[in-house]
Amino acid sequence: MSLRALSVVSEAYPLVKTGGLADVAGALPAALKPYDVAVTTLIPGYKKVMKALQRGEILHTYPDLLGVEAKLIAGTAGGLDVIVLDAPELYGRDGGPYLDPTTGKDWPDNWLRYGVLGRAAADLAEGRAGGLGVDIVHGHDWQGALASAYLHYDGSAVPSIVTIHNIAFPGWFPIETFAHLGLPQRAYSIEGVEYFGGVGFLKAGLHTANAITTVSPTYAEEIRTKEFGMGLEGLIKTRKDHVFGIVNGIDTNVWNPATDPNLAAQYDARTLHLRRQNRRMLEKIYNLAEGFGPIFCVISRLTTQKGMDVLADLTDDLVAMGGRLALLGSGDTKFETAFIAASNKHRGKIGVTIGYDEALSHLMQGGADAILIPSRFEPCGLTQLYGLRYGCVPVAANTGGLADTIIDANDAAVNAGVGTGFLFNGVTRESLTTALQHTITRYANRKVWKSLQEQGMRADCSWTKSGRQYADLYRRFAKAGSHAVAASAVHNI
Ligand code: ADP
Repeated sequence: MSLRALSVVSEAYPLVKTGGLADVAGALPAALKPYDVAVTTLIPGYKKVMKALQRGEILHTYPDLLGVEAKLIAGTAGGLDVIVLDAPELYGRDGGPYLDPTTGKDWPDNWLRYGVLGRAAADLAEGRAGGLGVDIVHGHDWQGALASAYLHYDGSAVPSIVTIHNIAFPGWFPIETFAHLGLPQRAYSIEGVEYFGGVGFLKAGLHTANAITTVSPTYAEEIRTKEFGMGLEGLIKTRKDHVFGIVNGIDTNVWNPATDPNLAAQYDARTLHLRRQNRRMLEKIYNLAEGFGPIFCVISRLTTQKGMDVLADLTDDLVAMGGRLALLGSGDTKFETAFIAASNKHRGKIGVTIGYDEALSHLMQGGADAILIPSRFEPCGLTQLYGLRYGCVPVAANTGGLADTIIDANDAAVNAGVGTGFLFNGVTRESLTTALQHTITRYANRKVWKSLQEQGMRADCSWTKSGRQYADLYRRFAKAGSHAVAASAVHNI
């Protein structure tokens, strides 16, 4: 039976991207197609999205959607079947989807910008805004999570799923916003949207969705603990029979070193020597002196979640050990400043690009020797998957999806020829230094290193398996309706 899913999301590659969420939301529709699931993506009408929209057809006009004029327009954009929520007052701004570029802070009306998204999703699912048939609603992160709450309090028969891409972003807003969200008064309770004295979009979704997924099995376990649960661990534990960990895949067409137009030289596992040309190009771009030591790259938000404080502290050691560093990222000013200072101090050894550059990120995966991911927590992580596919060996913290997707190249794994990267425990100066030293030693053994690269490139990082898991989950809940109770836990999926 073919199934119709409505994906509710605040970013989707190639339309708008600030991180891994966009990659997943952009790739999942194609991943689900082979399993006879047709996904329509409901996305805000940011300027970029309106520009990319083709064959737009107005489905519904709202004179007053939580106080705002809006339209729902169906069409295609960036290769996706979309419904765009066109509300110029909320989305027709220059800047990022979440941040006001003039202040560097969140848009102050984000509660409304993503509140209306949830309301519109529920209207679409319930047939109140155009005749779109929807068997299941799939909201992503806090921005998409309120859809489940609206469906729940409307008493809708359409079931919903919420995916946690990062539980550290709860979508918390002051209590005053509640009155404007159009939810019934009874929704403001501990069993509803109330969260630390305000409104919690993610929490509301986690309470009211029929199922909760997160983006790796290990993270699904981790968020049940105080250390990782960000205050939501109690709720996650209560709903443990409805929580499923499904690891992210990657779009193997967009990320394919044999065809990637962003590379100086395309290659595959049998022509790894061609990577040298990409490495040379990277050395030029980053003003790195040619040398024998490995080039570590970082492609990341520069935040403490990503362990950038620890890395920024040991750039001297990295260079002293014979490594080089090429970093692409932006984030906390203090880390940006620290890395720029390190590159000035270690000219020819450390190169830094502050900003966001999709094309350069591909070249880095195709030319650097290893990718560093010292995250304190990592729900799934995508850069290690791109690294594996590109023969850029991941060196990563043993947490979340990193633990689920990298096979640590300890002696046994090397002897058996199955290692694909390096995992280290705890994000400390000591653990990262040891991991760097270990990587540099392994790198010196060309045979071992080549085998690591080849193993990684052979790993299946595609959406094939995970697409099927999502499709199975959709079917299970769509069939059972919105009052379904899941029978199996995380590990059974
Ligand atoms: P998160 O979503 O937590 O930021 P992920 O590893 O899941 O981390 O996904 C990050 C995505 O964003 C990857 O596709 C990565 O290549 C990309 N990315 C991160 N920083 C940059 C940057 N500065 N320039 C280009 N791409 C970036």
